[in-house]
Amino acid sequence: MRVSPLDLSETIVAQATPPGRGALSVVRLSGPNAHALVRGAVDRWPSAPRSVTVSHVRDASGVDVDQAVIIRYDAPASFTGEDSVELITHGGLVVATTVVAALIARGARLALPGEFTRRAVLNGKLDILQAEATGDLVNAKSRAAQSVALRQLDGGLSRRILALRDELIGLEALIAYDIDFPEEDDGPIAPARILSAAERIVSALEQLLATSRTGELIREGALVVLAGAPNVGKSSLFNALVGEARAIVTDIPGTTRDAIEAVIDTPTVPLRLVDTAGIRHAVDPVERLGVEMSESYVARAAIVLACGDSDESILRMSDALRGSDVPIIAVRTKSDLAPPTSAQLAADRAALAAGDAIAVSAETGEGLSALLSAISAAVSGQAGVQPVDAPLLTQERHHYAIARALGEVREFRDRWRSRELPAPVAAVHLREAVTTLEDLIGSVDVEDVLDEVFRRFCVGK
Ligand code: GDP
Repeated sequence: MRVSPLDLSETIVAQATPPGRGALSVVRLSGPNAHALVRGAVDRWPSAPRSVTVSHVRDASGVDVDQAVIIRYDAPASFTGEDSVELITHGGLVVATTVVAALIARGARLALPGEFTRRAVLNGKLDILQAEATGDLVNAKSRAAQSVALRQLDGGLSRRILALRDELIGLEALIAYDIDFPEEDDGPIAPARILSAAERIVSALEQLLATSRTGELIREGALVVLAGAPNVGKSSLFNALVGEARAIVTDIPGTTRDAIEAVIDTPTVPLRLVDTAGIRHAVDPVERLGVEMSESYVARAAIVLACGDSDESILRMSDALRGSDVPIIAVRTKSDLAPPTSAQLAADRAALAAGDAIAVSAETGEGLSALLSAISAAVSGQAGVQPVDAPLLTQERHHYAIARALGEVREFRDRWRSRELPAPVAAVHLREAVTTLEDLIGSVDVEDVLDEVFRRFCVGK
């Protein structure tokens, strides 16, 4: 029998925690029979919604399978908006599975992936952006991803998009007046007012679209490439930085395998640190006399750490970087051996066209945390990188929708300015933009739009 995630008459059950050794597990049920099904399997039932009871849980033949904490939620005050129950069972491989089996035997169906959240959307408890954020939060691999997802779950991005949609609807209402009074030379709404409202929305959409770059950096990490002559201490520095940062993230999508790399978590954007010396064995020994640096990495780098342990190696590094406009941090390595003078650091900075040169020692740890802070600050300060507490576009779907809405509003603005199309035709672009934003959020129904539109009309119209 095929199960449909759209059939809300079924009561679904699933283990919400991963199976394995642990103190506790959570089993969750939602649907019209959730209460009745659990009541049939327990000897004590919470007397009120959102209250808690400890009870034995029995399987279909009456055998005890656990002693669990039962939490009752009454519709619509639950995550899904339906009658729901959470059972906090003992952990491990057996208990939660047998509790789920007992509830299936009583008539529940095993939930499909994401089905609880889908029901929350269908019942109007979450919009689609918030549902996506729930998934992003569970899958977060860095503190930045966690913080962005949490804000999106709180509705930050949804509110921003709803505000833009409201402005578009306001603009549609202004045009409605214009359409009604076309013959009046001096109609109730000055065309310039409509134009400036359209300009405002265009620039707000442009700003929102520009946040995709930060969303991508948070998803994939900012690429930080270590480059320098052989033996200046790049691999040692790589290991020391990774050790210093301690918070390592692996498994970020898009991570390549052809060089040694590690993703370092920071409170802002995660850093994808790459030691291109990891590919040195594939490189011609003659080329190794120069600077170890993979051009493909450098071209994509957010920051290049230009490393040298002497005046000569810094000079070689600056030759190699000549003509490249990638942002650079100058790094003087092995500072424990021969601490560089401030004149040398100033010369490094000048030779490499970089900011303050930083002296580091992989041996003693000197300068490592200053270097990490400098990298984070340089990445966060780059053009187009937004603070992670602003609403950001994190998915291709968001980028596509905002780009599309922006295109439509620009079309409208251009047509309106040139007056080459009648107002009702130009306004079609606004409607497209509104629909695109609503599809992006996914929780706005037609009634809602109509309410908005008519709220803005004056009495008697
Ligand atoms: P790479 O070829 O640039 O990756 O350089 P390595 O990291 O392999 O280091 C080259 C040599 O320099 C090794 O013998 C390291 O032990 C030594 N080295 C690297 N960093 C330091 C440092 O900070 N202090 C000292 N004293 N030696 C270092």
